Amino acid sequence: MKKHPQQSVVVTGGAGFLGSYICERLVDSGSDVICVDNFFTGNKDNISHLIGRTNFELLRHDVTFPLYVEASKIFNFACPASPIHYQFDPVQTTKTSVHGAINMLGLAKRTKAKILQASTSEIYGDPLEHPQREEHWGNVNPIGPRSCYDEGKRCAETLFFDYRRQFDMPIKVVRIFNTYGPRMRPDDGRVVSNFIVQALRGDPITIYGDGMQTRSFCYVDDLIDGILAMMETGDDVTGPVNLGNPNEFTMLELAEVIIAETGSKSRLEFRPLPQDDPKQRKPDISLAKGTLGWEPKTPLREGIRKTAAYFEKVLEDNPEASAYSL
Ligand code: NAD
Ligand code: UDP
Repeated sequence: MKKHPQQSVVVTGGAGFLGSYICERLVDSGSDVICVDNFFTGNKDNISHLIGRTNFELLRHDVTFPLYVEASKIFNFACPASPIHYQFDPVQTTKTSVHGAINMLGLAKRTKAKILQASTSEIYGDPLEHPQREEHWGNVNPIGPRSCYDEGKRCAETLFFDYRRQFDMPIKVVRIFNTYGPRMRPDDGRVVSNFIVQALRGDPITIYGDGMQTRSFCYVDDLIDGILAMMETGDDVTGPVNLGNPNEFTMLELAEVIIAETGSKSRLEFRPLPQDDPKQRKPDISLAKGTLGWEPKTPLREGIRKTAAYFEKVLEDNPEASAYSL
């Protein structure tokens, strides 16, 4: 039987790192997927294997402009996520989060679609609570270089919950903690891709500050399981819910793991710590465990091995590719 066009699932930022996995999993499960991306940081290679599938459509579109399609579900992932890229054009970053949320919530309202927002651990800023629970309101500088991203994402959360209160819409908000894996760009600029690419090329590994700041790294497949599970919850489940791996590492520990797993001879090079860089970050995932029955499974070393294998191939195909560090 012919499907009604409203069964389409819209994935904004669908050609990016995370969005491409969502598109792939949805296409494989038989959904009709519309991938929406302006290719600011996205890459056609991420979705080239989906082009030509009858249930996959690619739309070059900037979410800061309204979008008129039919949809039953919307995954709103459009937004550069690496500090180097989101600070390149900070006004556009805020527009993408805020105008993008308004446009996608408007689309959801018109089509009665469920809508899920890719929010972030940056909601907590340089957190005053450790580990971070969803109740923490955060500690965010409203006027610093990270604010375009942090405050944009915080305003997007506000919009999601106001649309819920005002129009009784089925919304979902997930706060994603540092996620890594194959399909990150070599010049993405975030720490895992930087360190792996630097290690594989034998370039110095750029540690910002003294390397004692912490992050908790989640392998991409685990994260996508959590996101898809969240979208399938009942309308009473809105979040925000933390999704991430609670195993916490300093940047020095991360560099050690990457050097060991790649057998690299790279040396460490210390660079100034960027302004407002959060000192520590670790999700409390009790809510995700209880509501979604979800928790990450991939240990850091295993995820790093898989990601390093991917970057080895990228560097083989393009030996000029390199990390993008400050
Ligand atoms: P990414 O940069 O690889 O993907 C972002 C995608 O959005 C890219 O394809 C980009 O071209 C597209 N995009 C940017 N601005 C757009 C616009 N105005 N209109 C249409 N498309 C636009 O980053 P990612 O890691 O895949 O992150 C995806 C989403 O998840 C982002 O919203 C990010 O804030 C969120 N997130 C990611 C992480 C993480 O660790 N990867 C952590 C927290 C939150
Ligand atoms: N970082 C680093 N070297 C790099 C890139 C990042 O030491 O080449 C540090 C950065 O200062 C931060 C941590 O790694 O403390 C994580 O940075 P990333 O940009 O990956 O994510 P975020 O700061 O948004 O969590």
